[in-house]
Amino acid sequence: MRTMLPLALAILSRAVLAEPVAFKGATLIDGTGKAPVQNAVLVVDGERIVAVGPAAKVKIPQGARAVDLSGRTIMPGLINAHGHVGLVVGGQNRADGYTREAVQAQLLQYERYGVAAVLTLGLNRDLVYEVRDEQRKSGGPGASLYTAGRGIGVPNGAPPVPSLPDQVYRPATPEEAVANVRETATHKPDYLKIWVDDVFGKFSRMQPAIFKAAIEEAHRNKIKVASHVFYLADAKAVIGSGVDALAHSVRDQPVDAELIGLMKKRGTWYVPTLNVDESFFIFADEPALLDDPFLAGALPPESVQQFKSPEYKTKVGSDANVAKARAAAANGMKNLKALHDAGVHIAFGTDSGANPARIAGWAEHRELELMVRAGLSPMEAITAATGGSAAMMGAADRGTLEKGKRADFLVLAANPLDDVRNTRKLVSIWHGGREIEPRVVSASAR
Ligand SMILES: [Zn+2]
Repeated sequence: MRTMLPLALAILSRAVLAEPVAFKGATLIDGTGKAPVQNAVLVVDGERIVAVGPAAKVKIPQGARAVDLSGRTIMPGLINAHGHVGLVVGGQNRADGYTREAVQAQLLQYERYGVAAVLTLGLNRDLVYEVRDEQRKSGGPGASLYTAGRGIGVPNGAPPVPSLPDQVYRPATPEEAVANVRETATHKPDYLKIWVDDVFGKFSRMQPAIFKAAIEEAHRNKIKVASHVFYLADAKAVIGSGVDALAHSVRDQPVDAELIGLMKKRGTWYVPTLNVDESFFIFADEPALLDDPFLAGALPPESVQQFKSPEYKTKVGSDANVAKARAAAANGMKNLKALHDAGVHIAFGTDSGANPARIAGWAEHRELELMVRAGLSPMEAITAATGGSAAMMGAADRGTLEKGKRADFLVLAANPLDDVRNTRKLVSIWHGGREIEPRVVSASAR
């Protein structure tokens, strides 16, 4: 059963540019980490950037339409290198939730919050490849989909997410893991995902021989591997076996010189996902957040009601894992700062879509705020969330606003270098040279 309505609406709202357009007068953050350009010109032709730089240096092609963006800021669209689709429907995790409609709806939601691309790190049914390939062929709507397919978990263990058996592999032996990776490779995934830990001591861990076999087989097939992590010891073990990215923060204790040395030597990427830990308690602690239309607009009304209810507060208060999550949140913040300062590659992800409190679209803006609270500058957080994620994913055609790259950018009413929360002041969103109406536009953003 397909509903065509959301798709039809989406297509109506997306006009392909008929002529080159010169966006003039904005402050431009290009996603490389370089100082912003004042009074910039960004010229887009079709889906690509054809020229960009200070007004004095950019030659505007004849016949280009000019768009005055004086007082605005332009930055690249966000790239979420750790998300999930099709797991939460109507505010609940549902094993039968992974449908084409649910995946499409979530990709549209990401896009309308300024998330230009998402890497779905596991728990995907094989239809994810169909949706991805159709999108790549037709330029179809929604955030650009990258995927790790099913991923490799543990029998009766991680990931403990309601899902169907065809959404994740759970090999019992290294041989099975190799077969699972080979099957995954036939779909040409953009990454491989593995889960190795015991989920707060609840399950058995993945045997090192299994993740070693999975990582080696992935690399034989030229596929990079991201691992779920929580513990410092696991982070060292998977990096020792060649993993390319840690898909979460190390959260059990401070990182040490050994981990830093390993990550720097091997060029391992670090995706902090700080909002994961606070998602266990933040709406019980700060229900006023739910009054922000930017957040409420990303949630079904029943979720807003649920998070505001006294029952939810009681449930959070009595959950033994919440104290662990608070400690984990604090450790994650310190470890991001330590790894960043040591020169480890930082990318950007949120785990949004994994459960009802990890909210696609809103989580990405919140994550930037948390990265800045952890001690990164707004520029450093934005660089991780754009050029950083693209580099981790090997997505060479996007992530920065440079000549030849895709025209994936956000126009903001205020400069996020002054306050990173200004990324929420979306005036317009451009994705592959098409204009997307932001999901929520506050009066002040116009
Ligand atoms: Zn995840």
